Amino acid sequence: MPDTPATAALPSVQDRLRAAQPCLWTNAGRVPQVPPQLSVGTALVGMDDMQAAVARFGRFAGLLAELFPELQASGGVIESPLVPAPTLARALGLGAEEGALWVKCDHLLPVAGSIKARGGIHEVLEFAETLALEHGLVSPGSDYRALAQPAARALLGRYQVAVGSTGNLGLSIGVAASRLGFRAAVHMSADAKEWKKERLRRRGVEVVEHAGDYEQAVAAGRTQAASDPFCHFVDDERSLSLLQGYSAAAPALQRQLAAAGITVDATHPLFVYLPCGVGGAPAGITFGLRQVLGPHVHCFFAEPVQSPCFLAQMLAGPHDHPSVYDWGLTNQTEADGLAVPRASLLAASLMHPLLSGIFTVQDATLFQHLAWAHDTEGLRIEPSAAAGFSGPAMLTGTLAGRAWLRAQGLEAHLPRATHLAWTTGGLFVPEAEYDLFLQRGRAQPQAASA
Ligand SMILES: *Cc1c(COP(=O)(O)O)cnc(C)c1O
Repeated sequence: MPDTPATAALPSVQDRLRAAQPCLWTNAGRVPQVPPQLSVGTALVGMDDMQAAVARFGRFAGLLAELFPELQASGGVIESPLVPAPTLARALGLGAEEGALWVKCDHLLPVAGSIKARGGIHEVLEFAETLALEHGLVSPGSDYRALAQPAARALLGRYQVAVGSTGNLGLSIGVAASRLGFRAAVHMSADAKEWKKERLRRRGVEVVEHAGDYEQAVAAGRTQAASDPFCHFVDDERSLSLLQGYSAAAPALQRQLAAAGITVDATHPLFVYLPCGVGGAPAGITFGLRQVLGPHVHCFFAEPVQSPCFLAQMLAGPHDHPSVYDWGLTNQTEADGLAVPRASLLAASLMHPLLSGIFTVQDATLFQHLAWAHDTEGLRIEPSAAAGFSGPAMLTGTLAGRAWLRAQGLEAHLPRATHLAWTTGGLFVPEAEYDLFLQRGRAQPQAASA
């Protein structure tokens, strides 16, 4: 398939993709106005689906505050700060005349320690809610703290929630499910970090280790769950509930932007850079942001040069489902949250009209940016979460980026632009592990670029 590219007009992106060189692809299929209904696989989604997720988190807030001590202060709201990063902007080479850099700190999200707190916890809550309504433990409008009572926990304890994961989704689902009273099983790929498995086992979650990659761990979990009527499998490649949960980030970010005095309109573009694995998290957030902010938010996905599965999917025809191995790539990266060989087709179908582009990043750059984020702004992130920091240079400092900005009529508006890097994980990375990341990042030559 890679030998007969479907988009021969973009030879340089394909050459660079195959050579594992950083590249920027921009989406000619993006539409400025979001249609009221969008197809995602065989379903249709719209504003209602995002609002349903926001409402569900709201109904569960009281219960979450009771179950998770770390959510008491926020009243059960799982959110992260939006912070300015002017010193990091200079380190990354983003001049003041090219816009301001902000960081959406999902590396601080409580409970899961990563962006997976949004989608993963949403799906566990939706499953618990479905069971609780069915069995009359709660009713519409009733107090969901009833689910902390022994009768409810006994019911939920008859069910298992299972998931396949490179690590962070497992952490999110495993911790949330077991705290609600479910049994939990996490199928982990070979590249999952040992400390993530340990953290789950300490919480009574069953960890099933698989020798293969992420895709194989998901397939094994899916098969095992299919034969068990008391098992709900959270399917990272096929779940609408995950996408919906991620999209709930959008109204919250909209409020944070307003509170920070950040305007998003035709002369104040917002560029959002989202690390991408299978695509569910960045697609859910992009879907939400395009719903609430409209045409002037431009979302870009960031992938490791050896795992650009979403880019491979966007370059392929609608009936192809290529893997990064088909492109001669290895799927080997220290960004374990992004080490995915094949994209979610649900996420890809949803992104065709919404996404602005995708860029790829070398591991050496991830570590350098991880260290810069720490040394300039005190941000403590994991390697996957650093992928978005290449975004500003990709747009403003490459020929492809400049050409796109010009074609969109955005070049003149750069001084009033906001660049928002979404840092997706890191809170629970052990000290010793993080120190190694830092050392590795500081050892990178200063001249290395995106
Ligand atoms: C999972 C993850 C992502 C990407 O999410 P996908 O839904 O797999 O695309 C990004 N960063 C981190 C830290 C993650 O754990």
